[in-house]
Amino acid sequence: MRLIFLGPPGAGKGTMAKKLSKSRGLLHLSTGDLLRANIKEKTALGKEAVSFVENGKLVPDQLVIEMMRHRLREQDARKGFILDGFPRTTEQAKALDGLLGEENMKLDHAVNFDASDGKIIERLSGRRICGKCGAIYHLKNIPPKQPGICDQCGGSLVQRKDDNEETVRRRLEVYREETAPLIEYYERQNLLRTVPGELDVHELEPIVKKILA
Ligand SMILES: [Zn+2]
Repeated sequence: MRLIFLGPPGAGKGTMAKKLSKSRGLLHLSTGDLLRANIKEKTALGKEAVSFVENGKLVPDQLVIEMMRHRLREQDARKGFILDGFPRTTEQAKALDGLLGEENMKLDHAVNFDASDGKIIERLSGRRICGKCGAIYHLKNIPPKQPGICDQCGGSLVQRKDDNEETVRRRLEVYREETAPLIEYYERQNLLRTVPGELDVHELEPIVKKILA
């Protein structure tokens, strides 16, 4: 099964992708993971990407697509994959279609995690992360036993810069502008499946599974 997960940051696609990739043996791939792996392993594509990353520039779509092509040919992608947060623009979606066509692959579903700005801001701005072990908490939904302290390792909990309200609002604006056309793009191909990303993960999981059944 070959899936892409669309949706704003904080709509639950990463969590769901992790769960499904485990239970169904699918490769879970985000652009960030792909870039980091290629740079770390010093592949030819990774070396090319480094110059963009070091200069604070966006890595060109074509480079990302080539990395994806290599990755999707590997053994652990044979049962299928979930692309998490890629494509982000119509240009990227077209490039992905080109790649899949050349590899004789077809997408099964484009799952769109829908959530309101208010809900996303509440989710992300309440998020706290343990500075020591990386465990994730939420002031309202997953509070630590002692405020500000990690249950697992006693480290202090911090808010990531990306998670403060103003930054989240800006990220959402960019997302809505860039990605809204993608929703139409996949709708036209009859691949779009919209799910309520506002639900908690245990409520959302059966809905996603039904779509994939
Ligand atoms: Zn911790």
